[in-house]
Amino acid sequence: MNTLSLWINGKHTASLGSRTAEVTNPATGCVIRHVPLATSEDVNAAVAAARAAYPAWRDTTALRRSRILNRFRELLEMHRAELARLASEEHGKTLEDAAGSVQRGIEVVEFAVGAPHLLKGEHAENVGRGVDCHSVLQPVGVCAGITPFNFPAMVPMWMFPIAIACGNTFVLKPSEKVPSCSLRMAELFKEAGLPDGVFNVVPGDKEAVDALLIHPDVRAISFVGSTPVAKYIYETAAHHGKRVQALGGAKNHAVVLPDASLDFTADAIMGAAYGSAGERCMAISTVVAVGDIADELVAKLKDKAERLVTGPGDQKGVDMGPVISKQHKDRIVGYIDSGVAQGARLVTDGRGIVVPGFESGYFVGPTLFDHVSTEMTIYREEIFGPVLIVLRAASLGDAINLINSNPYANGTAIFTSSGAAARRFQNEIEVGMVGINVPIPVPMAFFSFGGWKSSLFGDLHMHGMEGVYFYTRTKAVTTRWPELSDKKTSTLAMPTLG
Ligand code: NAD
Repeated sequence: MNTLSLWINGKHTASLGSRTAEVTNPATGCVIRHVPLATSEDVNAAVAAARAAYPAWRDTTALRRSRILNRFRELLEMHRAELARLASEEHGKTLEDAAGSVQRGIEVVEFAVGAPHLLKGEHAENVGRGVDCHSVLQPVGVCAGITPFNFPAMVPMWMFPIAIACGNTFVLKPSEKVPSCSLRMAELFKEAGLPDGVFNVVPGDKEAVDALLIHPDVRAISFVGSTPVAKYIYETAAHHGKRVQALGGAKNHAVVLPDASLDFTADAIMGAAYGSAGERCMAISTVVAVGDIADELVAKLKDKAERLVTGPGDQKGVDMGPVISKQHKDRIVGYIDSGVAQGARLVTDGRGIVVPGFESGYFVGPTLFDHVSTEMTIYREEIFGPVLIVLRAASLGDAINLINSNPYANGTAIFTSSGAAARRFQNEIEVGMVGINVPIPVPMAFFSFGGWKSSLFGDLHMHGMEGVYFYTRTKAVTTRWPELSDKKTSTLAMPTLG
């Protein structure tokens, strides 16, 4: 069984320490490889490589950087199926789902290829008499990314392609549960012509993360993961003088109004709730049924959920794979138990599912609860599994209030045929990403991705122009070219140019 390595300064590198973690195939429960857990010395070596590579990469023209990114994009396309296979094998999601998520990552590279245009800055002539002003976007230096298990290729690609396109160098700390896609992408990036040291990968756990958070040469930290860790990352990295964007967990609600097209809505909710076994930060985990639509909607959801096929992600005909680990499966089952104990109506029970031939896999079947209230644990906490809960609200206003009272605010959706209701919803809802008859409103790469409140700590979202702003510093340059004959204008008063 192979043990993976770190990727430092353009090559596979053994860890200086001896700690490793097991990487498991969640469908079989079998260990498929080991991954080193980077020590703080390993992280220091990666940051040193990134720092050494920075001056030359910063001074490489944006056009040349963009050509390397374009070759990287081509290689990603060529290896899309291979990356999807790795993501599916280590995470458990279906191959089709994994391929879709790799594609969404490639689209960020496509966006980053536009670096020469994106980095143009602004210019204004004659901001004062004979005075011009322009701003430039300059890289910040060594940047680091810390990523979760649920999107082994896509979430890292929210970060490093844009950082690198902007002239920064990068150290990625992928989830120790799904390290292979990141290491493979590092090889492909080198093959595309990326100079050594510009992109480094250090699989690891808290030790590696903490080494990045306090390292004086790391200027920016991007994080995606659970809310408690996001908050810790934000506070610690900010305390050490870094800019931070830390995306956290979610509890995404879909509001269904009585005028919604029911079949369309139920189908949309199926994919959003149970796709990737609910292990998506944009999964719809909560339905708010408004008015008298609830009974009919729940009947349709039950019917569709019970037809879904749960099994290993690489088998044809499977809709939903396993969850990531035995520990996570037990946690999800514990939440289902608590929902029953606290009085919610369990409509479809995914506990105890057995997949023939995969008895040691971490499977939980689609689970549906009705009559859930806001005090119940299954409403208050992020379950991150195939558990959909239904609450009832008397009016759209009540539904909006309910969602705005929830601490999480990543994504939300409304299903309706009323433009006026949709418009009110998008205006009043306090959530970062909103779908109107779109269940998982993940913005395309040229828009920015991010939640509000406890779903994001920091000011700027990922990718799109906010990604460019996160990975650059603005410098404003004010210029005057006086004629020799110009009179001296020295004054001790605050200069006003107009
Ligand atoms: P996690 O917070 O456990 O881990 C995320 C990363 O942080 C991993 O690289 C992990 O090694 C590291 N880490 C874990 N504990 C740490 C600690 N105590 N100190 C320092 N580093 C630590 O998250 P996960 O289980 O890998 O991913 C699932 C979570 O991620 C869910 O909450 C999900 O909602 C969230 N998520 C959010 C988004 C988003 O865009 N908001 C996207 C994907 C996933």
